[in-house]
Amino acid sequence: MRKVMSNMNWMVLALLAVTMTAAAQQSASAPQNPQPVAARQPSQAPSGQAQSNLAPPTTMDQVVDRVIVREKDLIKFLSPRTPIVETYLQDLTQDPQLGPIPQEDHYFLGRMDLSESIDRSDYLQDKGKDEGMEKRLLGGLTKKFKFQYQPLGFSWMIYADRNDFDRQHYDFHYARREFIGDVRCLVFDLTPRKDAGRGRFLGRIWVEDQEFSIVRLNGTYARPSRNSHYFHMDSWRLNLVPGYWVPSYIYSEEGDFTAGAKNKIAFKAQTRMWGYNLKTGTANDELTSIRVDSVKDNTPTAQDATPLAAEREWQQQAEDNVIERLERAGLLAPEGDVDKILQTVVNNLEITNNIELPRPVRTRVLTTSPLETFSVGNTIVVSRGLIDVLPDEGSLAMVLSHELAHIVLGHNLGSQYAFNDRMLFSDEVTYQNLGFKHIPEEEAAADKKAIEMLKASPYAQKLDSAGLFIKALQARAPSLGALLQAHLGNSITENGRVTRMAQLATSAPALDWNKLDQIAALPLGGRVKLSPWDDKVEIVKAQPVAITSARDKMPFEVTPFFPRLSRYSNASALAEATAASPTTTATTANTSPTPTN
Ligand SMILES: [Zn+2]
Repeated sequence: MRKVMSNMNWMVLALLAVTMTAAAQQSASAPQNPQPVAARQPSQAPSGQAQSNLAPPTTMDQVVDRVIVREKDLIKFLSPRTPIVETYLQDLTQDPQLGPIPQEDHYFLGRMDLSESIDRSDYLQDKGKDEGMEKRLLGGLTKKFKFQYQPLGFSWMIYADRNDFDRQHYDFHYARREFIGDVRCLVFDLTPRKDAGRGRFLGRIWVEDQEFSIVRLNGTYARPSRNSHYFHMDSWRLNLVPGYWVPSYIYSEEGDFTAGAKNKIAFKAQTRMWGYNLKTGTANDELTSIRVDSVKDNTPTAQDATPLAAEREWQQQAEDNVIERLERAGLLAPEGDVDKILQTVVNNLEITNNIELPRPVRTRVLTTSPLETFSVGNTIVVSRGLIDVLPDEGSLAMVLSHELAHIVLGHNLGSQYAFNDRMLFSDEVTYQNLGFKHIPEEEAAADKKAIEMLKASPYAQKLDSAGLFIKALQARAPSLGALLQAHLGNSITENGRVTRMAQLATSAPALDWNKLDQIAALPLGGRVKLSPWDDKVEIVKAQPVAITSARDKMPFEVTPFFPRLSRYSNASALAEATAASPTTTATTANTSPTPTN
Protein backbone atom coordinates (compact mmCIF):
# COMPACT_ATOMS: atom_id res chain seq x y z
CA MET A 1 0.00 0.00 0.00
CA ARG A 2 1.64 3.23 -1.11
CA LYS A 3 0.71 6.64 0.10
CA VAL A 4 1.92 10.17 -0.30
CA MET A 5 4.73 10.82 2.11
CA SER A 6 5.85 14.09 3.48
CA ASN A 7 9.49 13.97 2.72
CA MET A 8 11.08 14.66 6.06
CA ASN A 9 14.57 14.28 4.75
CA TRP A 10 14.01 16.86 2.13
CA MET A 11 12.64 19.24 4.71
CA VAL A 12 15.94 18.97 6.48
CA LEU A 13 17.44 19.93 3.16
CA ALA A 14 15.19 22.92 2.86
CA LEU A 15 16.97 24.29 5.86
CA LEU A 16 20.11 24.38 3.82
CA ALA A 17 18.49 26.81 1.48
CA VAL A 18 19.13 29.52 4.01
CA THR A 19 22.66 28.39 4.65
CA MET A 20 25.66 29.23 2.62
CA THR A 21 27.63 26.05 2.91
CA ALA A 22 28.90 23.79 5.59
CA ALA A 23 32.19 25.41 4.78
CA ALA A 24 31.37 28.86 6.05
CA GLN A 25 29.97 27.47 9.25
CA GLN A 26 32.94 25.27 9.93
CA SER A 27 35.42 28.01 9.31
CA ALA A 28 33.59 30.27 11.67
CA SER A 29 33.37 27.89 14.57
CA ALA A 30 35.85 25.07 14.39
CA PRO A 31 39.24 26.64 14.96
CA GLN A 32 38.10 29.24 17.47
CA ASN A 33 36.23 26.87 19.73
CA PRO A 34 38.31 23.77 20.19
CA GLN A 35 36.51 21.51 22.60
CA PRO A 36 38.27 20.23 25.69
CA VAL A 37 40.90 17.67 24.99
CA ALA A 38 39.45 15.30 27.55
CA ALA A 39 36.29 14.93 25.51
CA ARG A 40 38.28 13.74 22.55
CA GLN A 41 39.73 10.45 23.59
CA PRO A 42 40.23 8.35 20.49
CA SER A 43 37.51 5.76 20.10
CA GLN A 44 40.04 3.21 19.00
CA ALA A 45 43.74 2.68 18.98
CA PRO A 46 45.72 4.12 16.08
CA SER A 47 45.30 1.63 13.32
CA GLY A 48 48.33 2.16 11.10
CA GLN A 49 50.14 -1.12 11.54
CA ALA A 50 53.49 0.48 10.84
CA GLN A 51 53.11 2.74 13.84
CA SER A 52 51.74 0.35 16.40
CA ASN A 53 55.09 -0.46 17.95
CA LEU A 54 56.57 3.02 17.77
CA ALA A 55 56.96 5.13 20.89
CA PRO A 56 55.28 8.53 20.74
CA PRO A 57 57.70 11.20 19.52
CA THR A 58 59.00 13.49 22.22
CA THR A 59 60.52 16.29 20.14
CA MET A 60 59.27 18.24 17.13
CA ASP A 61 62.14 16.81 15.11
CA GLN A 62 60.84 13.33 15.82
CA VAL A 63 57.36 14.43 14.84
CA VAL A 64 58.69 15.71 11.50
CA ASP A 65 60.44 12.40 10.91
CA ARG A 66 57.18 10.61 11.58
CA VAL A 67 55.26 12.94 9.23
CA ILE A 68 57.74 12.18 6.45
CA VAL A 69 57.43 8.42 6.98
CA ARG A 70 53.62 8.61 7.07
CA GLU A 71 53.53 10.62 3.83
CA LYS A 72 55.72 8.04 2.10
CA ASP A 73 53.46 5.29 3.47
CA LEU A 74 50.44 7.04 1.97
CA ILE A 75 52.11 7.45 -1.41
CA LYS A 76 52.87 3.74 -1.41
CA PHE A 77 49.40 2.80 -0.22
CA LEU A 78 47.73 4.79 -2.98
CA SER A 79 50.14 3.91 -5.76
CA PRO A 80 48.08 1.00 -7.21
CA ARG A 81 44.95 3.16 -7.31
CA THR A 82 43.46 5.24 -10.09
CA PRO A 83 40.83 7.49 -8.53
CA ILE A 84 38.52 9.69 -10.53
CA VAL A 85 39.41 13.37 -10.46
CA GLU A 86 36.97 16.10 -11.33
CA THR A 87 37.80 19.80 -11.57
CA TYR A 88 35.13 22.40 -12.04
CA LEU A 89 36.37 25.94 -12.54
CA GLN A 90 34.62 29.29 -12.81
CA ASP A 91 36.35 32.32 -14.32
CA LEU A 92 35.22 35.36 -12.39
CA THR A 93 34.17 38.84 -13.28
CA GLN A 94 33.33 41.65 -10.86
CA ASP A 95 29.65 42.50 -10.53
CA PRO A 96 29.14 45.83 -8.74
CA GLN A 97 26.28 44.41 -6.72
CA LEU A 98 26.97 40.70 -6.34
CA GLY A 99 30.77 40.79 -6.16
CA PRO A 100 32.81 38.29 -8.18
CA ILE A 101 30.45 36.13 -10.25
CA PRO A 102 31.11 33.47 -12.88
CA GLN A 103 31.82 34.70 -16.38
CA GLU A 104 32.80 31.45 -18.02
CA ASP A 105 33.45 27.94 -16.76
CA HIS A 106 35.51 24.84 -17.47
CA TYR A 107 35.07 21.21 -16.60
CA PHE A 108 37.61 18.39 -16.47
CA LEU A 109 36.97 14.76 -15.57
CA GLY A 110 39.49 11.96 -15.64
CA ARG A 111 41.32 9.19 -13.84
CA MET A 112 44.54 9.74 -11.92
CA ASP A 113 47.31 7.23 -12.03
CA LEU A 114 49.22 7.46 -8.76
CA SER A 115 51.72 4.70 -9.42
CA GLU A 116 54.89 6.41 -10.61
CA SER A 117 54.20 10.10 -10.53
CA ILE A 118 50.79 11.68 -10.76
CA ASP A 119 49.30 11.33 -14.18
CA ARG A 120 45.86 11.88 -15.53
CA SER A 121 43.77 10.55 -18.39
CA ASP A 122 40.62 12.37 -19.31
CA TYR A 123 37.07 11.09 -19.82
CA LEU A 124 36.32 14.11 -21.97
CA GLN A 125 37.77 14.83 -25.37
CA ASP A 126 41.41 15.90 -25.25
CA LYS A 127 42.42 19.18 -26.79
CA GLY A 128 46.08 19.14 -27.70
CA LYS A 129 48.72 17.36 -25.66
CA ASP A 130 51.85 19.28 -26.62
CA GLU A 131 52.62 20.71 -23.22
CA GLY A 132 55.98 20.20 -21.58
CA MET A 133 56.58 18.11 -18.51
CA GLU A 134 56.81 20.88 -15.96
CA LYS A 135 53.71 22.67 -17.14
CA ARG A 136 51.79 19.44 -17.26
CA LEU A 137 52.70 18.43 -13.77
CA LEU A 138 52.80 21.63 -11.82
CA GLY A 139 51.72 24.58 -13.87
CA GLY A 140 48.02 24.18 -13.96
CA LEU A 141 48.14 27.08 -16.38
CA THR A 142 50.16 28.02 -19.42
CA LYS A 143 50.32 31.47 -20.90
CA LYS A 144 52.17 31.03 -24.16
CA PHE A 145 49.43 32.44 -26.39
CA LYS A 146 46.52 32.70 -24.07
CA PHE A 147 45.71 31.31 -20.67
CA GLN A 148 45.06 27.65 -20.85
CA TYR A 149 44.17 25.63 -17.80
CA GLN A 150 46.00 22.37 -17.38
CA PRO A 151 43.64 19.98 -15.60
CA LEU A 152 46.42 18.07 -13.92
CA GLY A 153 47.68 21.22 -12.26
CA PHE A 154 44.59 21.28 -10.08
CA SER A 155 45.14 17.82 -8.71
CA TRP A 156 48.87 18.06 -8.19
CA MET A 157 48.55 19.08 -4.58
CA ILE A 158 47.22 15.77 -3.41
CA TYR A 159 50.77 15.42 -2.07
CA ALA A 160 53.16 18.16 -0.99
CA ASP A 161 55.92 16.54 -2.98
CA ARG A 162 55.49 13.17 -4.68
CA ASN A 163 59.20 12.34 -4.85
CA ASP A 164 61.24 14.45 -2.46
CA PHE A 165 59.26 15.07 0.70
CA ASP A 166 62.19 15.13 3.12
CA ARG A 167 64.57 17.29 5.14
CA GLN A 168 67.06 17.57 2.28
CA HIS A 169 64.50 19.54 0.29
CA TYR A 170 62.39 21.25 2.96
CA ASP A 171 62.64 23.20 6.20
CA PHE A 172 59.83 22.46 8.64
CA HIS A 173 58.82 25.18 11.10
CA TYR A 174 56.35 24.26 13.84
CA ALA A 175 53.63 26.95 14.05
CA ARG A 176 50.99 25.86 16.57
CA ARG A 177 48.32 23.37 17.57
CA GLU A 178 44.84 23.67 16.15
CA PHE A 179 41.61 21.72 15.96
CA ILE A 180 40.05 21.01 12.59
CA GLY A 181 36.65 19.53 13.31
CA ASP A 182 37.18 16.72 15.80
CA VAL A 183 40.84 16.30 15.04
CA ARG A 184 43.66 17.94 16.96
CA CYS A 185 46.44 18.97 14.61
CA LEU A 186 50.00 20.19 14.68
CA VAL A 187 50.63 22.92 12.16
CA PHE A 188 53.92 23.29 10.27
CA ASP A 189 55.10 25.83 7.73
CA LEU A 190 57.16 24.30 4.94
CA THR A 191 59.71 26.17 2.86
CA PRO A 192 61.85 24.60 0.16
CA ARG A 193 65.59 24.74 0.80
CA LYS A 194 67.64 27.11 -1.38
CA ASP A 195 69.02 24.46 -3.70
CA ALA A 196 65.82 22.38 -3.83
CA GLY A 197 64.95 23.46 -7.38
CA ARG A 198 61.76 24.62 -9.06
CA GLY A 199 58.24 23.60 -8.25
CA ARG A 200 58.67 22.76 -4.59
CA PHE A 201 55.79 23.04 -2.14
CA LEU A 202 55.63 26.30 -0.22
CA GLY A 203 52.99 26.63 2.45
CA ARG A 204 51.45 25.07 5.51
CA ILE A 205 50.56 21.52 6.50
CA TRP A 206 48.22 20.27 9.23
CA VAL A 207 49.20 16.97 10.83
CA GLU A 208 46.88 14.96 13.09
CA ASP A 209 48.45 14.24 16.47
CA GLN A 210 48.04 10.45 16.78
CA GLU A 211 49.71 8.90 13.77
CA PHE A 212 51.07 12.14 12.28
CA SER A 213 49.41 11.93 8.91
CA ILE A 214 48.97 15.13 6.92
CA VAL A 215 45.29 16.06 6.85
CA ARG A 216 45.47 19.39 5.04
CA LEU A 217 47.91 21.26 2.79
CA ASN A 218 47.57 24.91 1.95
CA GLY A 219 49.93 26.88 -0.28
CA THR A 220 51.48 26.81 -3.72
CA TYR A 221 54.67 25.75 -5.48
CA ALA A 222 57.78 27.90 -5.44
CA ARG A 223 59.77 29.43 -8.30
CA PRO A 224 57.68 28.89 -11.43
CA SER A 225 59.38 29.21 -14.79
CA ARG A 226 58.58 32.14 -17.08
CA ASN A 227 55.87 30.37 -19.03
CA SER A 228 53.92 28.77 -16.27
CA HIS A 229 51.99 29.81 -13.24
CA TYR A 230 51.41 27.85 -10.07
CA PHE A 231 48.00 28.04 -8.45
CA HIS A 232 47.30 28.47 -4.80
CA MET A 233 45.60 25.41 -3.41
CA ASP A 234 43.89 24.22 -0.27
CA SER A 235 43.99 20.45 -0.20
CA TRP A 236 42.00 18.26 2.24
CA ARG A 237 42.23 14.62 3.22
CA LEU A 238 39.71 12.39 4.95
CA ASN A 239 40.33 9.43 7.23
CA LEU A 240 38.28 7.00 5.15
CA VAL A 241 40.27 3.85 5.80
CA PRO A 242 42.02 2.78 9.00
CA GLY A 243 45.42 4.42 9.25
CA TYR A 244 45.27 6.56 6.12
CA TRP A 245 44.07 10.05 5.32
CA VAL A 246 43.01 10.04 1.68
CA PRO A 247 43.27 13.15 -0.58
CA SER A 248 39.66 14.20 -1.19
CA TYR A 249 39.11 17.87 -2.03
CA ILE A 250 41.23 20.69 -3.40
CA TYR A 251 40.09 24.27 -3.65
CA SER A 252 42.00 26.71 -5.83
CA GLU A 253 41.46 30.40 -6.26
CA GLU A 254 43.30 33.24 -7.95
CA GLY A 255 42.43 36.85 -8.52
CA ASP A 256 42.21 40.09 -6.68
CA PHE A 257 39.34 42.51 -7.08
CA THR A 258 40.61 45.23 -4.73
CA ALA A 259 40.82 48.75 -6.12
CA GLY A 260 43.85 49.19 -8.36
CA ALA A 261 44.60 45.47 -8.66
CA LYS A 262 45.49 44.41 -12.17
CA ASN A 263 44.72 40.78 -12.62
CA LYS A 264 44.85 38.82 -15.75
CA ILE A 265 43.20 35.77 -14.29
CA ALA A 266 40.56 35.38 -11.66
CA PHE A 267 38.95 32.06 -10.98
CA LYS A 268 37.86 29.61 -8.33
CA ALA A 269 37.88 25.88 -8.78
CA GLN A 270 36.84 22.76 -6.90
CA THR A 271 38.66 19.51 -7.48
CA ARG A 272 37.18 16.31 -6.07
CA MET A 273 38.68 12.86 -5.97
CA TRP A 274 36.67 9.70 -5.62
CA GLY A 275 36.60 6.10 -6.77
CA TYR A 276 39.75 5.14 -4.83
CA ASN A 277 38.25 1.74 -4.20
CA LEU A 278 37.20 1.06 -7.77
CA LYS A 279 38.58 -2.11 -9.24
CA THR A 280 41.81 -1.41 -11.03
CA GLY A 281 44.46 -3.42 -12.69
CA THR A 282 45.73 -4.05 -16.15
CA ALA A 283 43.95 -2.72 -19.20
CA ASN A 284 42.30 -6.11 -19.63
CA ASP A 285 40.84 -6.08 -16.16
CA GLU A 286 39.25 -2.74 -16.80
CA LEU A 287 36.96 -4.27 -19.37
CA THR A 288 33.71 -5.21 -17.80
CA SER A 289 33.17 -8.88 -17.38
CA ILE A 290 29.99 -10.03 -19.00
CA ARG A 291 27.15 -10.19 -16.57
CA VAL A 292 25.39 -13.52 -16.89
CA ASP A 293 22.97 -13.39 -14.00
CA SER A 294 21.08 -10.23 -14.82
CA VAL A 295 17.93 -12.00 -15.86
CA LYS A 296 16.71 -14.26 -13.10
CA ASP A 297 14.10 -16.84 -13.91
CA ASN A 298 11.80 -16.86 -10.90
CA THR A 299 8.74 -18.35 -12.53
CA PRO A 300 7.63 -21.54 -10.79
CA THR A 301 6.79 -23.28 -14.04
CA ALA A 302 9.20 -22.77 -16.86
CA GLN A 303 7.31 -21.00 -19.58
CA ASP A 304 8.34 -18.99 -22.57
CA ALA A 305 7.75 -15.27 -22.24
CA THR A 306 4.95 -13.59 -24.14
CA PRO A 307 6.23 -11.05 -26.66
CA LEU A 308 5.47 -8.15 -24.29
CA ALA A 309 7.08 -9.92 -21.33
CA ALA A 310 10.14 -10.62 -23.47
CA GLU A 311 10.33 -6.96 -24.45
CA ARG A 312 10.22 -5.91 -20.81
CA GLU A 313 12.85 -8.40 -19.80
CA TRP A 314 15.04 -7.12 -22.58
CA GLN A 315 14.68 -3.55 -21.34
CA GLN A 316 15.40 -4.66 -17.80
CA GLN A 317 18.55 -6.35 -18.97
CA ALA A 318 19.70 -3.19 -20.76
CA GLU A 319 18.92 -1.10 -17.69
CA ASP A 320 20.84 -3.42 -15.37
CA ASN A 321 23.81 -3.48 -17.73
CA VAL A 322 24.03 0.29 -17.92
CA ILE A 323 23.58 0.86 -14.20
CA GLU A 324 26.22 -1.70 -13.35
CA ARG A 325 28.63 -0.33 -15.94
CA LEU A 326 28.27 3.26 -14.74
CA GLU A 327 28.76 2.20 -11.13
CA ARG A 328 31.86 0.31 -12.09
CA ALA A 329 33.25 3.38 -13.86
CA GLY A 330 32.71 5.42 -10.69
CA LEU A 331 30.10 7.59 -12.36
CA LEU A 332 27.13 6.26 -10.39
CA ALA A 333 26.91 6.15 -6.60
CA PRO A 334 25.90 2.83 -5.02
CA GLU A 335 22.26 2.68 -3.94
CA GLY A 336 21.78 4.64 -0.73
CA ASP A 337 19.85 7.11 1.39
CA VAL A 338 19.77 9.90 -1.16
CA ASP A 339 17.96 7.51 -3.52
CA LYS A 340 15.29 7.02 -0.88
CA ILE A 341 14.65 10.76 -0.79
CA LEU A 342 14.37 10.91 -4.57
CA GLN A 343 12.17 7.83 -4.63
CA THR A 344 9.74 9.35 -2.15
CA VAL A 345 9.21 12.28 -4.50
CA VAL A 346 8.73 9.97 -7.48
CA ASN A 347 6.32 7.91 -5.42
CA ASN A 348 4.28 11.00 -4.54
CA LEU A 349 4.02 11.92 -8.21
CA GLU A 350 2.99 8.40 -9.19
CA ILE A 351 0.30 7.96 -6.55
CA THR A 352 -1.42 11.25 -7.10
CA ASN A 353 -1.44 10.64 -10.85
CA ASN A 354 -2.59 7.01 -10.58
CA ILE A 355 0.48 5.78 -12.38
CA GLU A 356 0.90 2.01 -12.24
CA LEU A 357 4.01 0.72 -13.94
CA PRO A 358 4.85 -2.94 -14.46
CA ARG A 359 8.22 -2.39 -12.79
CA PRO A 360 8.96 0.10 -10.00
CA VAL A 361 10.80 3.29 -10.87
CA ARG A 362 14.22 3.46 -9.28
CA THR A 363 16.45 6.51 -8.82
CA ARG A 364 20.22 6.78 -8.70
CA VAL A 365 22.78 9.56 -8.28
CA LEU A 366 25.40 10.36 -10.89
CA THR A 367 28.59 11.23 -9.00
CA THR A 368 29.53 14.21 -11.18
CA SER A 369 28.91 17.97 -10.92
CA PRO A 370 27.37 19.02 -14.29
CA LEU A 371 23.62 19.53 -13.97
CA GLU A 372 22.01 16.63 -15.79
CA THR A 373 19.40 13.90 -15.65
CA PHE A 374 18.53 10.96 -17.83
CA SER A 375 16.65 7.74 -17.54
CA VAL A 376 17.42 4.25 -18.71
CA GLY A 377 14.61 1.73 -18.53
CA ASN A 378 12.82 2.49 -15.28
CA THR A 379 15.81 4.07 -13.57
CA ILE A 380 16.01 7.85 -13.24
CA VAL A 381 19.52 9.23 -12.81
CA VAL A 382 20.18 12.71 -11.38
CA SER A 383 23.62 14.25 -11.02
CA ARG A 384 25.10 15.19 -7.65
CA GLY A 385 25.62 18.76 -8.85
CA LEU A 386 21.98 19.17 -9.79
CA ILE A 387 20.74 17.91 -6.42
CA ASP A 388 23.17 20.35 -4.78
CA VAL A 389 21.77 23.46 -6.42
CA LEU A 390 18.03 22.69 -6.16
CA PRO A 391 16.48 24.94 -3.52
CA ASP A 392 13.66 22.71 -2.28
CA GLU A 393 11.47 19.66 -2.75
CA GLY A 394 9.24 21.39 -5.31
CA SER A 395 12.17 21.96 -7.65
CA LEU A 396 13.36 18.40 -7.07
CA ALA A 397 9.89 17.20 -8.07
CA MET A 398 10.16 19.28 -11.23
CA VAL A 399 13.45 17.61 -12.18
CA LEU A 400 12.18 14.10 -11.46
CA SER A 401 8.79 14.62 -13.13
CA HIS A 402 10.43 15.19 -16.51
CA GLU A 403 12.22 11.84 -16.42
CA LEU A 404 9.19 10.09 -14.94
CA ALA A 405 7.20 11.46 -17.88
CA HIS A 406 9.64 9.84 -20.33
CA ILE A 407 9.09 6.52 -18.56
CA VAL A 408 5.30 6.87 -18.46
CA LEU A 409 5.21 7.84 -22.14
CA GLY A 410 7.32 4.80 -23.02
CA HIS A 411 10.25 6.82 -24.37
CA ASN A 412 12.60 3.96 -23.70
CA LEU A 413 16.20 4.49 -24.64
CA GLY A 414 19.14 2.21 -24.35
CA SER A 415 17.71 -1.18 -25.27
CA GLN A 416 20.82 -1.63 -27.44
CA TYR A 417 22.75 -2.06 -24.19
CA ALA A 418 21.06 -5.38 -23.54
CA PHE A 419 23.79 -6.72 -25.83
CA ASN A 420 26.63 -7.35 -23.46
CA ASP A 421 29.40 -6.68 -25.96
CA ARG A 422 28.29 -3.05 -25.83
CA MET A 423 29.41 -2.90 -22.19
CA LEU A 424 32.96 -3.86 -23.08
CA PHE A 425 34.89 -0.62 -23.07
CA SER A 426 37.38 1.04 -20.76
CA ASP A 427 36.15 3.55 -18.20
CA GLU A 428 37.76 6.50 -19.96
CA VAL A 429 35.48 6.16 -22.98
CA THR A 430 32.22 5.75 -21.06
CA TYR A 431 30.82 8.99 -22.44
CA GLN A 432 31.63 8.00 -26.00
CA ASN A 433 30.00 4.59 -25.57
CA LEU A 434 26.83 5.39 -23.67
CA GLY A 435 24.19 7.98 -24.50
CA PHE A 436 20.57 8.64 -23.56
CA LYS A 437 19.53 11.69 -25.54
CA HIS A 438 15.91 12.04 -26.60
CA ILE A 439 14.77 13.66 -29.82
CA PRO A 440 13.25 17.18 -29.41
CA GLU A 441 9.70 15.88 -29.90
CA GLU A 442 10.07 13.50 -26.96
CA GLU A 443 11.58 16.26 -24.86
CA ALA A 444 8.60 18.51 -25.51
CA ALA A 445 6.14 15.69 -24.83
CA ALA A 446 7.89 14.85 -21.55
CA ASP A 447 7.76 18.48 -20.40
CA LYS A 448 4.05 18.67 -21.17
CA LYS A 449 3.29 15.42 -19.35
CA ALA A 450 5.51 16.42 -16.43
CA ILE A 451 3.68 19.69 -15.88
CA GLU A 452 0.36 17.83 -15.94
CA MET A 453 1.65 15.42 -13.31
CA LEU A 454 3.05 18.21 -11.12
CA LYS A 455 -0.25 20.07 -11.18
CA ALA A 456 -2.06 16.97 -9.93
CA SER A 457 0.52 16.30 -7.24
CA PRO A 458 1.30 17.60 -3.73
CA TYR A 459 3.85 19.85 -5.43
CA ALA A 460 1.24 21.90 -7.27
CA GLN A 461 1.52 24.59 -4.61
CA LYS A 462 5.32 24.60 -4.71
CA LEU A 463 5.90 25.30 -8.38
CA ASP A 464 6.81 28.94 -7.78
CA SER A 465 10.16 27.87 -6.39
CA ALA A 466 10.69 25.51 -9.31
CA GLY A 467 9.94 28.39 -11.69
CA LEU A 468 12.31 30.67 -9.80
CA PHE A 469 15.02 28.06 -10.08
CA ILE A 470 14.57 28.07 -13.85
CA LYS A 471 14.74 31.86 -13.89
CA ALA A 472 17.96 31.84 -11.87
CA LEU A 473 19.38 29.19 -14.16
CA GLN A 474 18.41 31.27 -17.17
CA ALA A 475 20.13 34.32 -15.69
CA ARG A 476 23.38 32.40 -15.23
CA ALA A 477 23.19 29.96 -18.14
CA PRO A 478 25.26 32.02 -20.61
CA SER A 479 28.24 31.90 -18.19
CA LEU A 480 27.89 28.28 -17.16
CA GLY A 481 28.23 26.37 -20.42
CA ALA A 482 30.42 23.66 -18.90
CA LEU A 483 28.21 23.09 -15.87
CA LEU A 484 25.18 22.80 -18.13
CA GLN A 485 26.78 20.48 -20.66
CA ALA A 486 25.16 17.08 -20.16
CA HIS A 487 27.42 14.12 -20.89
CA LEU A 488 24.93 11.27 -21.04
CA GLY A 489 21.44 12.74 -21.35
CA ASN A 490 19.82 15.86 -22.78
CA SER A 491 21.18 19.19 -21.59
CA ILE A 492 18.81 21.37 -19.61
CA THR A 493 19.77 24.32 -21.82
CA GLU A 494 20.41 24.87 -25.49
CA ASN A 495 22.63 27.68 -26.74
CA GLY A 496 22.48 29.44 -23.39
CA ARG A 497 18.68 29.20 -23.11
CA VAL A 498 16.90 26.98 -20.59
CA THR A 499 14.66 24.62 -22.54
CA ARG A 500 13.77 21.98 -19.94
CA MET A 501 10.46 22.75 -18.15
CA ALA A 502 10.89 26.40 -19.17
CA GLN A 503 7.13 26.93 -19.08
CA LEU A 504 7.20 26.93 -15.28
CA ALA A 505 9.19 30.17 -15.29
CA THR A 506 6.31 32.13 -16.83
CA SER A 507 4.15 31.86 -13.73
CA ALA A 508 6.98 32.29 -11.20
CA PRO A 509 7.64 35.46 -9.18
CA ALA A 510 10.20 37.97 -10.41
CA LEU A 511 13.80 36.99 -9.75
CA ASP A 512 15.42 39.42 -7.33
CA TRP A 513 18.99 38.75 -6.19
CA ASN A 514 18.65 41.44 -3.51
CA LYS A 515 15.70 39.79 -1.83
CA LEU A 516 17.44 37.90 0.93
CA ASP A 517 14.60 35.46 1.57
CA GLN A 518 14.33 34.52 -2.08
CA ILE A 519 16.64 31.54 -2.56
CA ALA A 520 16.29 30.52 -6.17
CA ALA A 521 19.32 28.23 -6.38
CA LEU A 522 22.09 27.05 -4.06
CA PRO A 523 25.88 26.93 -4.39
CA LEU A 524 27.48 23.69 -5.56
CA GLY A 525 28.62 21.20 -2.95
CA GLY A 526 26.34 22.22 -0.11
CA ARG A 527 23.95 19.33 -0.11
CA VAL A 528 25.35 16.01 -1.29
CA LYS A 529 28.51 14.52 0.19
CA LEU A 530 30.33 11.96 -1.95
CA SER A 531 32.67 9.50 -0.25
CA PRO A 532 36.00 9.49 -2.08
CA TRP A 533 36.62 5.92 -0.97
CA ASP A 534 33.46 3.97 -1.85
CA ASP A 535 31.49 6.58 -3.91
CA LYS A 536 28.56 6.51 -1.49
CA VAL A 537 26.52 9.70 -1.38
CA GLU A 538 24.79 11.16 1.63
CA ILE A 539 23.10 14.39 2.57
CA VAL A 540 25.36 16.93 4.23
CA LYS A 541 24.32 17.78 7.76
CA ALA A 542 25.08 21.40 8.48
CA GLN A 543 23.67 24.12 10.66
CA PRO A 544 22.23 27.05 8.78
CA VAL A 545 24.21 30.22 8.37
CA ALA A 546 22.17 33.35 7.95
CA ILE A 547 22.39 35.11 4.63
CA THR A 548 23.25 38.73 5.26
CA SER A 549 23.74 40.08 1.76
CA ALA A 550 22.99 39.22 -1.84
CA ARG A 551 26.62 38.10 -2.15
CA ASP A 552 25.95 35.24 0.27
CA LYS A 553 23.58 33.47 -2.10
CA MET A 554 26.19 32.33 -4.63
CA PRO A 555 23.79 30.41 -6.89
CA PHE A 556 25.52 27.65 -8.91
CA GLU A 557 28.91 28.85 -7.63
CA VAL A 558 31.86 26.98 -6.23
CA THR A 559 33.06 27.77 -2.73
CA PRO A 560 36.04 26.67 -0.62
CA PHE A 561 35.91 23.30 1.12
CA PHE A 562 35.77 23.03 4.87
CA PRO A 563 34.99 19.40 5.68
CA ARG A 564 34.48 18.59 9.33
CA LEU A 565 37.39 16.25 9.94
CA SER A 566 36.95 13.23 12.15
CA ARG A 567 38.85 10.04 12.69
CA TYR A 568 37.90 6.79 11.01
CA SER A 569 35.52 4.78 13.11
CA ASN A 570 32.87 2.24 12.21
CA ALA A 571 30.92 3.20 15.30
CA SER A 572 30.73 6.86 14.44
CA ALA A 573 29.80 6.12 10.85
CA LEU A 574 26.84 4.14 12.14
CA ALA A 575 25.83 6.84 14.61
CA GLU A 576 25.86 9.42 11.83
CA ALA A 577 23.67 7.29 9.64
CA THR A 578 20.95 7.13 12.27
CA ALA A 579 21.21 10.72 13.42
CA ALA A 580 18.31 12.11 11.41
CA SER A 581 16.83 13.87 14.39
CA PRO A 582 13.10 14.59 14.35
CA THR A 583 13.55 17.80 16.36
CA THR A 584 15.74 19.24 13.63
CA THR A 585 13.12 18.37 11.09
CA ALA A 586 10.40 20.12 13.03
CA THR A 587 12.27 23.40 13.30
CA THR A 588 13.21 23.16 9.67
CA ALA A 589 9.67 23.16 8.46
CA ASN A 590 9.22 26.65 9.83
CA THR A 591 12.37 28.13 8.46
CA SER A 592 12.23 26.66 4.99
CA PRO A 593 12.20 29.55 2.60
CA THR A 594 8.99 30.38 0.84
CA PRO A 595 9.78 32.39 -2.24
CA THR A 596 7.50 35.38 -2.40
CA ASN A 597 7.02 38.28 -4.68
ZN1 LIG B 1 14.18 14.49 -21.39
